[in-house]
Amino acid sequence: MLTRGHGVRGALALMGVTAAMACAPQLTPGVDGTIDVSDGRPVMELTYLGSGGWIMSLGGEQLLAAPLFTNPSFFRTGVLEIEPDTVAIDRYMDEYDVSQARVILIGHGHYDHAMDVPRVARRHATGARILANRTTANLFGTWSGLADRIEVTNGHEGTEERSGRWFSFGPHIRVMPLQSRHAPHFDGLTLFEGTADVLREDPPGRAVDWVDGKTVAFLIDFLDREGEVRYRIYYQDAVVAAPWGFAPDPLIEEHPVDLAILVPATFDQVDWHPEAFIENLRPERVLLGHWEDFFVPMDTPTRSVRLSDIGHFESRLERVFDGEWWRPEIGTVFRFPAGG
Ligand SMILES: [Zn+2]
Repeated sequence: MLTRGHGVRGALALMGVTAAMACAPQLTPGVDGTIDVSDGRPVMELTYLGSGGWIMSLGGEQLLAAPLFTNPSFFRTGVLEIEPDTVAIDRYMDEYDVSQARVILIGHGHYDHAMDVPRVARRHATGARILANRTTANLFGTWSGLADRIEVTNGHEGTEERSGRWFSFGPHIRVMPLQSRHAPHFDGLTLFEGTADVLREDPPGRAVDWVDGKTVAFLIDFLDREGEVRYRIYYQDAVVAAPWGFAPDPLIEEHPVDLAILVPATFDQVDWHPEAFIENLRPERVLLGHWEDFFVPMDTPTRSVRLSDIGHFESRLERVFDGEWWRPEIGTVFRFPAGG
């Protein structure tokens, strides 16, 4: 066995709740098009690709957070084989030039964050390194051809009290993994939980094979010529119970987060998400990612993820956060002022 954990139990439970999801909560659409608040200043640009996927660019420097375009159906992830939909991946990624992207960030090994990355990395972000946990590196194994492009986060995570390691990607981007966890999907149960401990020689075949490993969030700094922080982003791709997922207090003292990308899906499985993160990160702006139902094909109208009341998340965010925030439709572009 390459993996251990509760994958099969999770898959069965996942199927078991299908009936309970017949009445998925509906939410009004988020913003779309281009949101430009840069006001003539240098631009930090972000494009939402859906699920955990983002393109982040500043001054010719670019990085990606791992996207998902394959979107296998709910039933398929429960019982059938899944594989990347390379036609869909290429159709969406061909819209963008990410050939110069420095790195692709993956917070955990679940299929909705990791499965499409080998295609993206080999075909589109061909110069990018990959920053991910040991389990994800082992899942990509030898078959993906990516082994020499992966940097592993395990043992380098920062916490609320102490800094972790800064991984540098070129002269102007550095990324620190933050010790996090993966919130339960429902009723205290986390699906596809476990580790992959040896390099796989073939692609994982089912959703349950894409186990999470040691989940991390990321602190991302775009640096100026002097090495000072020009723009700081906090990125998470899974909800977590604080203080897991926190950024180091001393770092935030020095430079609060300019932009926090927070996940609302399954927020109600933990306490004080998002409130605790607003307090820890002191973000100027907030974007919501990974909020839409990713069990339906990319070209169908978006609707919010099942089982989480995203509207409730938004009202809780409003109560503790005075700044601007948005919930983007897939493809939305944000242009924020980057100082300088
Ligand atoms: Zn996950």
